[in-house]
Amino acid sequence: MSFPYDAPVSQTLFDRASLVTPGGVNSPVRAFRAVGGTPRFMVSGTGPYLTDADGREYVDLVCSWGPMILGHSHPEVIAAVQEAVARGTSFGTPGEGEVALAEEIVARIEPVEQVRLVSSGTEATMSAIRLARGFTGRAKVVKFAGCYHGHVDALLAAAGSGVATFGLPDTPGVTGAQAGDTIVLPYNDLEAVRAAFAAHPGEIACVITEASPGNMGVVPPLDGFNAGLKELCAEGGALYISDEVMTGFRTSKAGWFGVDGVRPDLMTFGKVMGGGFPAAAFGGRADVMAHLAPVGPVYQAGTLSGNPIATAAGLAQLQLLDDAAYAKVDAVSAEIRSLVSEAFTKEGVAHTVSAASNMFSVFFTEQPVRNYEDAKKQEAFRFTAFFHSMLSQGVYLPPSAFESWFVSTAHDTQAVERIAAALPAAARAASEATS
Ligand code: PLP
Repeated sequence: MSFPYDAPVSQTLFDRASLVTPGGVNSPVRAFRAVGGTPRFMVSGTGPYLTDADGREYVDLVCSWGPMILGHSHPEVIAAVQEAVARGTSFGTPGEGEVALAEEIVARIEPVEQVRLVSSGTEATMSAIRLARGFTGRAKVVKFAGCYHGHVDALLAAAGSGVATFGLPDTPGVTGAQAGDTIVLPYNDLEAVRAAFAAHPGEIACVITEASPGNMGVVPPLDGFNAGLKELCAEGGALYISDEVMTGFRTSKAGWFGVDGVRPDLMTFGKVMGGGFPAAAFGGRADVMAHLAPVGPVYQAGTLSGNPIATAAGLAQLQLLDDAAYAKVDAVSAEIRSLVSEAFTKEGVAHTVSAASNMFSVFFTEQPVRNYEDAKKQEAFRFTAFFHSMLSQGVYLPPSAFESWFVSTAHDTQAVERIAAALPAAARAASEATS
């Protein structure tokens, strides 16, 4: 596929970036490798819009991969950040902002009795797994193919989107010893989990799962899957870790726990809770969290953990996320999903719009998608044509067929109309695409 060279400033920046940074980016999916073309370098964001270095405006359906649930530059979040930054940027001591953010998390999510703040989702899952191993005295970790939990060595096996995009079944640099205690199972398959517990009695420290996966496209848990995991973990003496880095504070006020009510032993959070800054967390049962230093022997720390600006941004964002805000995000998501499906249907493109609350993605297949193997069977080549048509018409989608789309409270009628106007040509491009 060839691309009109219509982003000269972005291209110049990308050329500069490529000289000093591997692939020109600081996180691989940003490089557009799955779809080709010039990654757009963004210079500003307001509400549902992003503006690139060439001065073109886009309706943003990525929302920084989830965090920007109130849209860009929300005045109250910006004000909270400005107020915090005026008082200093980092103290390396405890501060009230981190207490207030922890209290907000504990108040919203009932299974979280205690929480520890960190700076990225990767740190949250890495720490939760270390804690689960320390608490149980066991080594093995069960994860599911297509679930991504950040670039934790032990969890970079069959890890979904980013890794899927690059076709790396395993990444070099992760040793056999690091991955050797990881058991990778097919998603939505309780029998496989039961068999793993039977094959490794007394060895499994935890099962970690995305609460509702969004890293192989959106593939919600089948009815009873999370509850079944919880039960098998309890029977097998393992901890059930629900990774809510993506779903937390997005799919409802209490994340995916607020949707299915299955009570994990530990949970991980990131994205929305940082308001666009590096803040993340892990938390859960107080008796398990008591094993963390300085109370217990499991070490975990961070120079910038609980940073005053990040916690101010996160708290301001969470305080604005009331029932009305979630109703708004859910409604706009439903509206866009139906517009997308209508456009593909009109062009005769086989598709499924898969949703988990307000997170959604398109699979170019009409077969059920229940796990990563199913997701990979879609006609992903159609996404490339669709993506570039939308981009050229001013709609910014995630640059991979295996990523969730995200919307915000700021996606108003005007933004939805822009998406609706772009869809017919993009659906046509998808229908005309050849592999
Ligand atoms: N867990 C899940 C479910 C995620 O989607 C991600 C990132 O997309 C992570 C963990 C890692 O978070 P971070 O990118 O902040 O390290």
